[in-house]
Amino acid sequence: MVLTIRLLRRPRGRAPTLRLAVAGALGAAMIGWAGGRIDDAAAAGRAADRPEARPNLLLVSLDTFRADRIAPWGPGGVAPTLDALAEESVVAARAYAPAPLTFPSHTSMLTGLYPFAHGVRDNDLYRLDARAPSVAKALQAAGWRTEAIVAASVLRSGTGLDQGFERYADVPFKRARNLVVESERPAEQVTDEALARLAVDDARPWFLWLHYFDAHAPFRAPGGPPPTAPLTEQYDAEVRHLDAQFARVMAALRASGALERTWIVVCADHGEGLGLQQETAHAYLCEESTLRIPLFVRRPDGGLRGAIESLTSAVDVAPTLLAAAGLGVDAASIHGRDLVETLAAQQGDDAGAGATAERAIWFETWAGWHQFKWARLEGVVAGGFKYVTNVAEELFDLAEEPLERANRASERPEVVRALRQRFEALQAEPVARLDSAADSLPPEEVARLRELGYLARMVGDDAAAADSDLDPRVHYASCLELQFALEASQAGNVDAAVKTLESLVGRYPKNPLFGEFLGKVLLKAGRKEAAAQAFAAALAVDPDLVSSAFYLGSLMREAGRIGEARIHLEKAVALSPVHLEAWLQLRAVHERERRYDLVLFDTCEVIRLAAELRDADGDALADDSLRTWLPNVLAKKLAGAPNLAELKQEAGRRLGSGDLPALARARALLDAAR
Ligand SMILES: [Zn+2]
Repeated sequence: MVLTIRLLRRPRGRAPTLRLAVAGALGAAMIGWAGGRIDDAAAAGRAADRPEARPNLLLVSLDTFRADRIAPWGPGGVAPTLDALAEESVVAARAYAPAPLTFPSHTSMLTGLYPFAHGVRDNDLYRLDARAPSVAKALQAAGWRTEAIVAASVLRSGTGLDQGFERYADVPFKRARNLVVESERPAEQVTDEALARLAVDDARPWFLWLHYFDAHAPFRAPGGPPPTAPLTEQYDAEVRHLDAQFARVMAALRASGALERTWIVVCADHGEGLGLQQETAHAYLCEESTLRIPLFVRRPDGGLRGAIESLTSAVDVAPTLLAAAGLGVDAASIHGRDLVETLAAQQGDDAGAGATAERAIWFETWAGWHQFKWARLEGVVAGGFKYVTNVAEELFDLAEEPLERANRASERPEVVRALRQRFEALQAEPVARLDSAADSLPPEEVARLRELGYLARMVGDDAAAADSDLDPRVHYASCLELQFALEASQAGNVDAAVKTLESLVGRYPKNPLFGEFLGKVLLKAGRKEAAAQAFAAALAVDPDLVSSAFYLGSLMREAGRIGEARIHLEKAVALSPVHLEAWLQLRAVHERERRYDLVLFDTCEVIRLAAELRDADGDALADDSLRTWLPNVLAKKLAGAPNLAELKQEAGRRLGSGDLPALARARALLDAAR
């Protein structure tokens, strides 16, 4: 089955699309970038700042890492290794994430572009344009060994972030029973692999990107506090663990002497709310809690120090790394700026060279739009104010109220006007515009997006988004209510869970996910009739809800309503071909209907998916199918079928050519049948 992902196409940007002409052998890969050309003037001009001709470059990206967990942004002591490193560095005192989302923010680090230019506006739904400029490509072209060690599947190689890396050690999605799910690895594994790669004998200078995911929820650091402990304690335990593991990388660099030839840039992709403002985690709002990040750069000798007081962003990572390598980048072609040069300019200003106008820094989140149809949030920080386009324009006075207590837009119309101009001017800058739409995701990833309710909410373009009258700051509470309901259900407090979900369904009739959760909670409580009603109601709003179709089909089968069961279960496997439970249910339905040809195919799908699980549960399922179902259907039910050869061929095709033992045994059974 071919699934068209037209809905995933990136809605057209508001600013006109500009494709810069490309030239030269590297052109196609280097839109708008100097692409490995040594910028002699820049290199010579800052020779004193850059003692090493072809240094190593280490980029450490800290996922979900609050700036105040490192000194000088906070008191220090939670992450002593990072504290010490920052002390020997140029630190960006007021650095912002371009989005409180992992994939868009990392894309900005590596390209120097804001999301509206690189085109990645959310996790999962996009794939970075193959023509994207990137630090890795430029360094690879200039002879650096480029490697990445990534800790979470959200940055898997399929995102396109692997461009320019000769080795990209990632974490693929993990196959679960009914879909593919996020996967991550802890800091000790990232560090172990980093130490192995640092020990490789290779004369070339290297660029190594290490991604640490530990500070991302769920918090379960080894030896950390119990899940009942306050959120900040659990979070800090992860930070401590990460820091201790990163310390091993620093020790290895010191011991080998490589530290003296290595620039180190540390940057977080976003912070974590921890309930200090409205948001407990990150993604849906653009609060200081989640947008402020630690960002610092250490020169190989550790002798270049100072604090950049002006506004900075994760987009500054790319030009900082390239400048450190002595490579040029056309400053006008990207949004980022070299942090070392920024510090030098600031010191020049201090000496009386005249103040330069402070930058406007971009931020955004489209996550609430994609998941709940809330208004998209976009805006700029400049001059101590934060301007946000929400359902109406908002203005926060960060100097007076760092925690954004109130929207001051109506009190300061002149500031709103000035920042609106900065907001529009930033988008009109002539940088490359990339098309990072995900046109052809693998079927299992499409199924996952359906399961998460993402695909249904991708419908709509800029015009529809502009029409949204749901203010994320107002409707964020519904997220917390949902979380409360799921936790209540988990704790056995079904009545509270049902009451909350029914209220959500009533208030958000257009969001079928609340109804689907209601159905699941009712089902878990054994209230099957009510559950079936909830799933049917959810499907009436969105007929493509995989879970609702699956559960409703299963309930119908149990009730003996076989015809209805078949319709819903066939729909479930059509939407999500990796849904193992749905294939199991469908097999039972087809058997009741004595459709043994279909039972054969369903059995083959079960064996294939169960084998791919590669766990005891999957082994048991595959084994059961191989011992009972497949031989039984072939030998007894289909023995006299005139088209048995054809059926066997089709079944073999479904099993595929994987080399897993269960698949080999199934193919042998097919061959041996009559
Ligand atoms: Zn992240």
